[in-house]
Amino acid sequence: NNIIEVRRLSKTFDNKKALKEISLDISHGGITALLGPSGSGKSTLLRHLSGLVCSDRQEGTEIRVLGQLVQSEGRAASQVRGCRARAGYIFQQFNLVNRLSVLTNVLIGALGSTARWRTLTGRFTPEQRRQAMQALERVGMAAFAEQRVSTLSGGQQQRVAIARSLMQQAHIIFADEPIASLDPESARTVMELLKDINEREGIPVVVTLHQVDYALKYCQHLVALREGEVFYQGAAEAITEGE
Ligand code: ADP
Ligand code: ADP
Repeated sequence: NNIIEVRRLSKTFDNKKALKEISLDISHGGITALLGPSGSGKSTLLRHLSGLVCSDRQEGTEIRVLGQLVQSEGRAASQVRGCRARAGYIFQQFNLVNRLSVLTNVLIGALGSTARWRTLTGRFTPEQRRQAMQALERVGMAAFAEQRVSTLSGGQQQRVAIARSLMQQAHIIFADEPIASLDPESARTVMELLKDINEREGIPVVVTLHQVDYALKYCQHLVALREGEVFYQGAAEAITEGE
């Protein structure tokens, strides 16, 4: 019953190996940190987990997320679309639509994809609006619902992005350097929120971080990468106890 299984995952960009036959099992439903210096392959690994990109074609390559096949020997499996729809993705630069309101940005989560938001704005049902307001309340941003995203601070924008993934009814959340652009206080708020959602809604979270201190404070499971290879995976506890 692993949350994530990765077998022999390699990814080559321009003859350079970004991931070198990574195998990985995450059985923990808590928060998993992907740690490592810049360029070690964290984002590339996370994108493979979410089905955003395809791996190298190689015999034996397989990725499963929540039991669903996401990649198989370099081909994104047919289930990818379904799996992606259930995964919330949080980005370093928030990826919100700046000139739209906070509420509309959250409603976009109901579409599953941002591709067709132009045609669908204004066509959301009252029930969807109620759910979006609920998601905004959940992240403490309901008072900002009618404001444009461009008027918000980075930390506030990241909370809206989290509300959008709640609106998607994500079964798992992937967060790529969600706090790298934030001041320390906003960073703590965002990590506390992910922790709270993980604990109360039971949604597993996989987050790339480059700060070990945040990983030790908020994550139960650590996966450390170096030059495209996993050199440590295990409980965060094991590290803190060893200090
Ligand atoms: P991290 O997230 O740990 O900073 P990345 O996964 O972004 O690392 O990058 C790992 C390596 O792969 C780096 O050498 C990076 O330059 C390279 N890389 C990542 N994405 C691409 C891409 N789209 N094209 C070419 N090289 C890439
Ligand atoms: P991250 O903060 O995730 O490490 P980067 O700043 O390394 O991201 O990369 C930003 C974007 O550029 C990503 O889409 C990544 O895939 C791409 N990229 C990274 N390295 C390279 C590269 N050497 N050549 C082309 N694209 C790259």
